[in-house]
Amino acid sequence: MARKSKAPEERPAKVDLDAFMKKARKFMRPYRVSKGKNFRLKDIDPGETAGLGSEAKPRSKEALQNGVQALAQLQDMLYAQDRWSVLLIFQAMDAAGKDGVIKHVMSGVNPQGCQVASFKTPSVEDLDHDFLWRCNKQLPERGRIGIFNRSYYEDVLVVKVHPEFLGSAKIPPRLIGKDIWENRYRDIRSYERYLANNGVIVRKFFLHVSRAEQKRRFLERIENPDKNWKFSASDAKERAHWKEYMKAYEEMIRETSTEDSPWYVVPADNKWFTRVVVVAAVIEALDSLDLHYPEVGADKLRELAAAKKALLAE
Ligand code: ATP
Ligand code: MG
Repeated sequence: MARKSKAPEERPAKVDLDAFMKKARKFMRPYRVSKGKNFRLKDIDPGETAGLGSEAKPRSKEALQNGVQALAQLQDMLYAQDRWSVLLIFQAMDAAGKDGVIKHVMSGVNPQGCQVASFKTPSVEDLDHDFLWRCNKQLPERGRIGIFNRSYYEDVLVVKVHPEFLGSAKIPPRLIGKDIWENRYRDIRSYERYLANNGVIVRKFFLHVSRAEQKRRFLERIENPDKNWKFSASDAKERAHWKEYMKAYEEMIRETSTEDSPWYVVPADNKWFTRVVVVAAVIEALDSLDLHYPEVGADKLRELAAAKKALLAE
């Protein structure tokens, strides 16, 4: 696809990235897991807000706005440069706020440079393939940010909690042994390494909501007619497996956190805090790529000058 180099005045408004990151880093770093070995889920409290009380809410909105603007600026360069792509993976229990985070964090980004894929219960066609197949098809093109709302990680989460799903996945029975999860973690690590080697930057977010806060949000969905559509009885049923899910999440994070593809375990009981942590982590990922607008060479400048002359002479 042809890409246009933009005149500087058409580019998204500039934010002081260094100043923003200086503040944002201290909120985000404690939740980054790049070595999983010693990770314990109980060390991160879903209600945590880095010591800030609800009086910080208005300031967090301002920080989010600044973050969104900075993200727009970086994404514009990512798109113009057309080399790297960014894959953001979101996993969470129901009602943890995945949809809201995606909506808010990406709100300033040019829709042309961004694509969202949601992975629900696999279709018959999906089940006719290996578990990475349906996700691999949805990887972002170079220059774009891809968002996975759930992902291949469901195959070591919901499927681990409900191993009977392996039966419907048509895997040859002799491949379903006790080492199936170990194999899947290893395959995911290799797959993400492969993506990194090909210029796809992967960042993974587990929105960590508490069981009590999930209950409160489910009740709100039931009591508020405008939110009734969001409620599903089967989501509420999964609460019975909470402990097994937390165990599966912990193991997944321990096994698949790497320097190249870290997990962020983001406290999710306070939405304002969750969003600031996520936007800061996404900006840091983009900022690490040393993005810049493509340089215009001497030939191109001559071509531009000639075209201008011809246009003005019309
Ligand atoms: P919402 O916030 O709208 O509830 P959602 O992401 O929970 O969004 P759902 O329509 O509830 O969307 O569908 C997702 C469901 O599909 C989840 O319960 C998830 O565990 C399940 N799912 C996803 N991948 C798989 C898989 N590979 N095998 C079995 N179930 C899966
Ligand atoms: Mg759901």
